Amino acid sequence: MDDDERDESNAPNQADNAKPTDMSAHLATGVPGAQPPLEQNGADERNRDRTAAGLHAIYETALFGFRDMGVKRSFQTLLKINQKDGFDCPSCAWPDPDDHRKIAEFCENGVKAVSSEATRKRLTPEVFQRYSIPEMLSHPDVWYEELGRITHPMIRRQGSDHYQPISWEDAFGLIGHELRSLDSPDQASFYTSGRASNEAAFMYGLLARQFGTNNLPDCSNMCHESSGAGLNPVIGIGKATVKIEDFAEADAIFVIGQNPGTCHPRMLTELQKAARNGCKIVSINPLKETGLIQFKNPQEPLRMLGPATKLASLFLPVRVNGDIAVLKGIMKEMLEEDQRTNGNVLAHDFLEHNTEGFEEFAQDIGNTAWEEIVSNGGVSRALIGDATDL
Ligand code: SF4
Repeated sequence: MDDDERDESNAPNQADNAKPTDMSAHLATGVPGAQPPLEQNGADERNRDRTAAGLHAIYETALFGFRDMGVKRSFQTLLKINQKDGFDCPSCAWPDPDDHRKIAEFCENGVKAVSSEATRKRLTPEVFQRYSIPEMLSHPDVWYEELGRITHPMIRRQGSDHYQPISWEDAFGLIGHELRSLDSPDQASFYTSGRASNEAAFMYGLLARQFGTNNLPDCSNMCHESSGAGLNPVIGIGKATVKIEDFAEADAIFVIGQNPGTCHPRMLTELQKAARNGCKIVSINPLKETGLIQFKNPQEPLRMLGPATKLASLFLPVRVNGDIAVLKGIMKEMLEEDQRTNGNVLAHDFLEHNTEGFEEFAQDIGNTAWEEIVSNGGVSRALIGDATDL
C-alpha cells in the first residue's frame, strides 16, 4: 500500500436506498425532503471487555492508521503526535508531559482522530455532484467521515439542493463581502470545532480579533463552559489546579462522571502509576466503565502478557443527575465525623482563613435528610460511607 491520492469512486453508496419523506425535517434543515438518518442496525449486544487497552488498542491503532493513512504516512504522522517538534493530538485535551515524551505519545483514540484528519480519501466536487443535500442528510455522521477530506470550497446557492464548487478567490470574496456589510463586527460569530488543530484555531482566533470581535464559540464551550462557570466562584479559577505528576503522588483519586478509557485514554497510564503506588481510586458513575476496572498499558509490551492493573477499588453507581446528592452525602458523613471527633476531620484553619459561607453551607448539609440523599443519589449510605472513609 502507498500513500497517494485515492479516487472518489470508493465513496460508500448507501444514498440510493434513502427515502426522504417528512416536512418537519425540511423546516429544521431548510432543505426540501431532508430526513434524519434512519437507524439501519439494531443495538450491537455482546459481552463487555473487562480490560481496557492492551493488545486490542494496538490492533485498532494499526487498523485505523494503515487503512486511512497507509503504512508510510502512518509512521510519519504517528511519530509526530504530541511530540515537542510535532503537533498536538486534536482529539481530547489531555496534557502532554513537560519533560520526557514517549516515542508513541498517543492512544488509540488519538490515532483514530488523526487518521481521519490525515486520511487519503478525498471528498471532491464530483462526490457533491453525485449526492443531493437531502440525500446526504439521510446518512449518519460516520458516512461523511468516510467520504474523506474536502478538496475544494463548496457553496449552496439559493434554491439549489446540491453543493457546487466555488473558487477560493470567490469564496473569500463572498465571505469578505458579507463581513464588511455588517453594521458591527459583533454581528459575526466565528464558530470552530474543537477538532481543529491548535495551530489552525490560533490563526482563526487572530482573524476574528483582527476583524474586531471576540465571538469565538467552539464546541468545547459546550463541554467546558459549565465546569469553568462552576469552579470560578468556588475556587477562584475555572481550570484544573493539578499537574500530571500529581496523579502518581495521590493517596486517593475520585473520578466523577468521567470515563477516562474513552474520554482521555492516556489518563489510564497516570491512574495505573497511582494504583501501583497504592492510591485508592473511586469511580462515581452510573456505569462501571471498563477503563476504570483494569488496564493493560500498550506502552509496556512485556507486562501486557501478565495480569492487568486493577484501577478503581470502589464504584458508586450514582443515578444520572444524582452527583450532587452523593457528594452531599460524603460531606454529611465528613461533617458528622468531624463533630464526633471534635474537629479532627475538616481543615478548620483553611476554612476559617480562606473561605466564606461555611456555616450556611454546613447547615444546608445538616438539614439534608439521608433518605433524600440516598433516593436522589441512587447510592446506598454504606457505599457513601466507604467513599468517605477513603
Ligand atoms: S489521550 Fe489520546 S485522544 Fe487524548 S490527546 Fe492524548 S492521544 Fe489524543
